[in-house]
Amino acid sequence: MRCPFCGNVDTQVKDSRPAEDNVAIRRRRFCPACGGRFTTYERVQLRDLVVVKSNGRREDFDRAKLERSIRIAMQKRPIEPERIDQMISGIVRRLESMGDTDIPSKVIGEIVMETLARIDTVSYVRFASVYKNFQAADDFDKFVSELRPQTAEE
Ligand SMILES: [Zn+2]
Repeated sequence: MRCPFCGNVDTQVKDSRPAEDNVAIRRRRFCPACGGRFTTYERVQLRDLVVVKSNGRREDFDRAKLERSIRIAMQKRPIEPERIDQMISGIVRRLESMGDTDIPSKVIGEIVMETLARIDTVSYVRFASVYKNFQAADDFDKFVSELRPQTAEE
């Protein structure tokens, strides 16, 4: 695994342990070249998903992007990080088991909202309020950039 700090490809695994209720392996890594430390997660990927936007554009599903938007919506909420990881894995699992590898971005947004609604109303409202503004455009990139971390008080 390439070091995200200096680009060195020869990094070392210091520690591996199960995470997210055993659906992932968390590895702590160390870069001997720059001393950088970082963590990777290894997960089962059942299928390669493709996100289809309403304008017909297709792009590879990016778990990190989904995760970013959810973490922003859940920022400062009293929810265990582990719980959030489980939730994201659950969403991905649902997407992977939908029977089609092409998933409309709208469907992803709806599943996220449905999941957030069950877990935390505040996060749901944050996500939904931003999501609805972009439903017409259906541009997930724009949507994610609009979901900025909240700096104001809750
Ligand atoms: Zn490095």
